[in-house]
Amino acid sequence: MPICFDLDGTLGHFSSGFVLLRQALGDIWGQAPTQDELTLCKGSTDWEIVDDLHRMRFGRDLDESGYAVYEKACLSHFQRAFAPGVWEAEAFGGVLEGMHCLARRWPVWLVSGNAPAVLTFKAEKLGVDPAIPRLGSLPRHDRAALLKRALRDCPGPHLYVGDRPHDLEAARRTGLPFIGVGNAVPGEHQSVPSDAAAERLVAAVEASLEPGW
Ligand SMILES: [Mg+2]
Repeated sequence: MPICFDLDGTLGHFSSGFVLLRQALGDIWGQAPTQDELTLCKGSTDWEIVDDLHRMRFGRDLDESGYAVYEKACLSHFQRAFAPGVWEAEAFGGVLEGMHCLARRWPVWLVSGNAPAVLTFKAEKLGVDPAIPRLGSLPRHDRAALLKRALRDCPGPHLYVGDRPHDLEAARRTGLPFIGVGNAVPGEHQSVPSDAAAERLVAAVEASLEPGW
């Protein structure tokens, strides 16, 4: 398992992400899902959310080709919304710097609920080193399944950094130590503010790793 980082709310912030998701589905389906429908979705990854919305709209599961169409449309909305001179993403500079420091010592991955092409776009906007692998939302994978996939063939160390209770829950289900960014994940784990300096994140990771790392 690499040291895995969620993206949204953990490394930075892209405003109106769910608005863009709904607009993308509106392009494809002719009418955007409502905010109430979105609220009924249970998962935290794009696949889970779009699959839920698809079932509400059409009464059947999403398939891979439908997800690929969504991914393309969603990427296009993000590219337009976050083009130069339009909206600006907010990067959490200290957390990003800390992640890059950690990547010089240990394997580090991005594991995020964004569809893969959207994750690649957002990571680039935030200035994430292209050498850090990205694992975005895949069909029939919840967040814990994505973490388990990142775990394959990697000796460790084992850890997940995220900003939401669903990140903590996925870490628990995968058996990983967890570090929270921001104050939206109460619990006994280590936490750092989103404006923390790099050194603080690195210290929190070192304190959370199993002995021997
Ligand atoms: Mg997040």
